[in-house]
Amino acid sequence: MGIIKTKGIILLESNMGDFDKMVSVLTPNLGKIGCAAKGARRPKSPLLAGTQFLSFSDFIIYNGVNSYNINSCEPIEVFYNIRTDLDKLTYASFITRLVYDVTDENQYTYNILQLLLNTLYMISETDIDKDFILSVFELRLLVVLGFAPNLGKCGICGDKNNIGYFSLAHNGFLCNSCGKADKSAIKISQDTFNALKYICSAPAKKIFSFSVSEESKKELKIISSLYLNKNLEKEYKFEKLY
Ligand SMILES: [Zn+2]
Repeated sequence: MGIIKTKGIILLESNMGDFDKMVSVLTPNLGKIGCAAKGARRPKSPLLAGTQFLSFSDFIIYNGVNSYNINSCEPIEVFYNIRTDLDKLTYASFITRLVYDVTDENQYTYNILQLLLNTLYMISETDIDKDFILSVFELRLLVVLGFAPNLGKCGICGDKNNIGYFSLAHNGFLCNSCGKADKSAIKISQDTFNALKYICSAPAKKIFSFSVSEESKKELKIISSLYLNKNLEKEYKFEKLY
């Protein structure tokens, strides 16, 4: 029990009683925690802004016997541009749901929080193709979770020079001849080869600092989505609401 100071982002909010809320907060060091926000739905509540979906804030939290209670919060970034754009909000909601599903309490989630914030920033503040942002996010999330693909050499024969496919069965690259025999392998362009290597190894702050051809964006979209579902053993499907 005691007072905890932490940064965190609201992944989920639900109403409780007449004026209260339960929120799910992703923190750097405590993992994803459920917190009560008493009175947060009163119009003049000091908790109003910082306990909304996607708000990233400085929190002071009281850790009670069975639950966390938010004492105060000071918003750092509320991603206003996402709230006012249904298309951006649809992508942000999907990404946030993925993060919600792969995190738990008492985990070190600094890297996932950093990836989420960087991705939301790209959606909020840039006009970069959102399918491309989603692909980069999905692949990098898998790397952070320990599902990095094997991108050093062909996963069957070990050839380093004639890479032409990405294989789901072999979790990574295959050469041109091995790839032809693997039904789960997707033919990739040189751009996609470079992009996959970049996304998996670039410093966290720079994962979006590259560009690829339209053809490569399509390849990355297919690979990231299939690779995500395979490793998380779920059937996530991004769908627009309109
Ligand atoms: Zn091979």
